[in-house]
Amino acid sequence: MNSAGGSLLMFLVAFLVVAVVGDFASTFGYHVPQHLWFKLHLRTHHDRSRSYWDHAVISKDPEVMLDGFLGAIPYLIVAAPLFFFGPFSIAGAVFALVIGQLHVWWRHTTDLGWKSPAAVRSFCRFFHIVLPEDHDGHHRNPDVEFGDLFRFYDAPARAMVGYVRKIQRRRRTALKRLQRIQAIRMMRRAQQA
Ligand SMILES: [Zn+2]
Ligand SMILES: [Zn+2]
Repeated sequence: MNSAGGSLLMFLVAFLVVAVVGDFASTFGYHVPQHLWFKLHLRTHHDRSRSYWDHAVISKDPEVMLDGFLGAIPYLIVAAPLFFFGPFSIAGAVFALVIGQLHVWWRHTTDLGWKSPAAVRSFCRFFHIVLPEDHDGHHRNPDVEFGDLFRFYDAPARAMVGYVRKIQRRRRTALKRLQRIQAIRMMRRAQQA
């Protein structure tokens, strides 16, 4: 391969790694855990009292910005090693981060009345890219449409949410049963005394 081809390949690989692996890391390392165990993302990104164009894009509320920043950290961690592989790798990684940021803005435009044209729709469907209409689904029902950039993370993310919730439910039921048994034992002991 000539050097121009090698450079282009380097650029493309770095771009894809940050987009695909970064989205994986952010979805399973931040977004899904937030939905399962934490409050920040639900309180900010899923705050139904204000327009999500406002809270995802233009808000300067420190909590909203913190949620955005924490969601971006996995992408940055994935991008960091690519900065040691020369200028084309750096360019590809930076380009992916820029596209990722543009996609954040774009995927919140349904609030402003955006409707994806047929060509955009088929392009995104082909590459499994999240459309604003898809992400709108996540705002309507926070249990569906996970994945920032790619829709193929939605099914495994939903499976993970379902699995963890099932375990949480089971643990709660077991705990309640244990409490009931302890209460009965205490009552018996009190009666015997
Ligand atoms: Zn959103
Ligand atoms: Zn969410």
